[in-house]
Amino acid sequence: MKSTLETLAIDGGEKTVQTTFPWPIYDENEVQAVAEVIRSGRWANPDCGEAVAAFEQEFAAYCGTKYAVSCVNGSVSLRLALMACGVKPGDEVIVPPYTFIATASTVLEVNCVPVFVDIDPETYNLDPKAIEAAITERTKVIIPVHFAGLACNMDAIMDIAHRHNLKVIEDAAHAHGAEYKGRKLGSIGDAGSFSFQSSKNLTSGEGGIVVTNDENLYRMMASLRNVGRMEGGQWYDHFNPGCNYRITQMQAVLLSQQLKRLEEQTVLRNNNGLYLNELLADIDGITPLSRGDGEIRHCYHLYIFKYDSSAFGPLSRSEFVARLSAEGVPCSTGYPHPLYTQPVFQNRNFMCYAIPESVDYTSVHCPIAERACRDEAVWIFQHAMLGSREDMRAFAEAIRKIQRVVSQS
Ligand SMILES: *Cc1c(COP(=O)(O)O)cnc(C)c1O
Repeated sequence: MKSTLETLAIDGGEKTVQTTFPWPIYDENEVQAVAEVIRSGRWANPDCGEAVAAFEQEFAAYCGTKYAVSCVNGSVSLRLALMACGVKPGDEVIVPPYTFIATASTVLEVNCVPVFVDIDPETYNLDPKAIEAAITERTKVIIPVHFAGLACNMDAIMDIAHRHNLKVIEDAAHAHGAEYKGRKLGSIGDAGSFSFQSSKNLTSGEGGIVVTNDENLYRMMASLRNVGRMEGGQWYDHFNPGCNYRITQMQAVLLSQQLKRLEEQTVLRNNNGLYLNELLADIDGITPLSRGDGEIRHCYHLYIFKYDSSAFGPLSRSEFVARLSAEGVPCSTGYPHPLYTQPVFQNRNFMCYAIPESVDYTSVHCPIAERACRDEAVWIFQHAMLGSREDMRAFAEAIRKIQRVVSQS
């Protein structure tokens, strides 16, 4: 009777999902655009090339902001925004612990103190009530991360910032094209930072950009990105402590081509995410994250659900994810640790003397982030969310298959 039982792909059975999900997506337009720059010999910005400025204008227009400053990656873009906000050594910056290290490590790089505030269990985004409770007289900036491409509660965050006279830098590295109440993420705070690293929803392999409506922030970030030069100044006149953080013309034309695809891809991921939410709704032990309050457009840099092993055998989360991957769903267990448990924080390897001795990350605990890291979160990657509705049904079926097999054994 053994042959009538299902066999998981991890044990040699047939994969549930037959499709593969390419990333990045490009065609001859991208190849042509880069080739033309190469043949022109105008590879650099500034001084010989307009493609970088053209892309900045296109991206700012897409986000609905006045200005955009491109740079080498989405960590430097955070750093430029922090420096331009005028932070002083020892100032506190509120960040979530469940995010990529750059959200917090760039705070250290500008000699400031990252203050970790726990996430909301339903959305994995910063919890506004916890933000308010963490504010001290040294707090200068809040960095909300629109985690996975899901908008933070920006009304509440901007209200807190206004009442306490704080700057808001949106870390929108996951959130190209996503929206909050009809506005593009990144355009709501004082500045919005994006990454174009290879895994991100808009990519040129590496790269970053900051958008803003604030002319002073813009001028400072543009100067810092360009070795402290000022617009209209001389080549060897340096006014601010910046660096060469410029991107190339090849990156800029590639991004201009990729940007043409972004809106359609974002709508597709959002629709697939809504559909997958429906498909997973009645599977025991699987709880998709909530899409939060207000009208949002999710761009699903990650599709995240919470996993409860007691409904699966119990298979540990890593055993479950290994089986789901083998069935053909591109997925992972995500971050293994909340940021404050990383050695850089635990051992105070700050390379900076402005962080008070009293700052002790060994006593920080954010229980929701710890649970997400330890055994709860499962991530499906953005390129898989560009599949068809049939692919979404196959993802749900792969999960059901694992559940059937483990409950039979
Ligand atoms: C990717 C990422 C960054 C940094 O971007 P890089 O381009 O890799 O430097 C910052 N914040 C978050 C949340 C990210 O995921």
